[in-house]
Amino acid sequence: MTAEVLILHTGGTIGMVPGPNGLAPAAGLQQRIEQQLGSSLALLPGFDLLELDPLIDSADLTPGHWQQLAALLAEHWDRYRGFIILHGTDTMAYSAAALSFMLGASERNVLFTGSQVPLGLPRSDAVAHLQAALQLAAGPRLRNVGLVFNNRLLNGSRLRKVSSQQFPAFDTPNAAPLAELNIRPQLHSARLLGEETASRHPREAAALDFQPGAVAMLSLHPSMPAALYDAILADNACKAVVLQSFGAGNIPSRDAAFNAFIKRAAARDKVIVNISQCLQGGISPGAYAASAGLQEQGVLNGGDMTPEAAFCKLHWLLAGGRSAAAVRADWSINLSDERTL
Ligand code: ASP
Repeated sequence: MTAEVLILHTGGTIGMVPGPNGLAPAAGLQQRIEQQLGSSLALLPGFDLLELDPLIDSADLTPGHWQQLAALLAEHWDRYRGFIILHGTDTMAYSAAALSFMLGASERNVLFTGSQVPLGLPRSDAVAHLQAALQLAAGPRLRNVGLVFNNRLLNGSRLRKVSSQQFPAFDTPNAAPLAELNIRPQLHSARLLGEETASRHPREAAALDFQPGAVAMLSLHPSMPAALYDAILADNACKAVVLQSFGAGNIPSRDAAFNAFIKRAAARDKVIVNISQCLQGGISPGAYAASAGLQEQGVLNGGDMTPEAAFCKLHWLLAGGRSAAAVRADWSINLSDERTL
């Protein structure tokens, strides 16, 4: 049978095996998939599988891995109908967001999946995820980079890992699922990316220059140590900051060190994006006096974007060699429905 789908195995629980120190990535997944999916394989689209070397626990993810994935997709883009990326759940939301920005309205189906329990262990969720991902990857064009997990297809640019213990490990708190994969799968076509969203070939992303350490995250809490600001300001490799503020986008407006940080960051051409620490709702600039003036100081509005999406969008914009001014100018382009407009 000609393979319609290419599976890229990056590591993660789905392909892990128990070892002396706990679960660890293991090569040879093709054989284990064939064993575990058994006779159902005859009813599913054919696939080839490539294993990355080294396979990683996704806690070890770096932006370089996104570039490696883009290069592999570019190399095999014309040969397959769809692609499945097997990935650890810990940083799945980052990689799915990064690939959403790289590909825009993807010309090929690119679906992430993983599992909470490794393939082959009792009560594993891996078989159902693989089966659903294979069917969707070889099916009609979806346009969104997606995540197949626990009987749902979710938008890759909106994901959060919401549970380390439960089978429904992922959610898109500010967006509805793209599909419900019940006995009769229901695809919500109106929620998929539309014609107005640009498509990008993965070779464009493979040619980008992702810089480790280019983006930092700063989550506000009462009485911030000023040394945190100094460290960010002194680090020339750090070009942008995702500021996770309180509630509707509020900052400690009476904190002189914080106010100085915002001014000095602008003077040093560091881009700051404001998002909310809340799981839902995003920021509402201007709603409170405590956040007044942030926009005038060049702080960008992250709306209801997830921290992962804001982080990856900044990385993607910077990897294209943009200046701080160009990042600011391009920030508001909705690249993959990552934000409610
Ligand atoms: N630590 C694992 C990983 O992210 C967790 C998982 O895959 O569920 O690689």
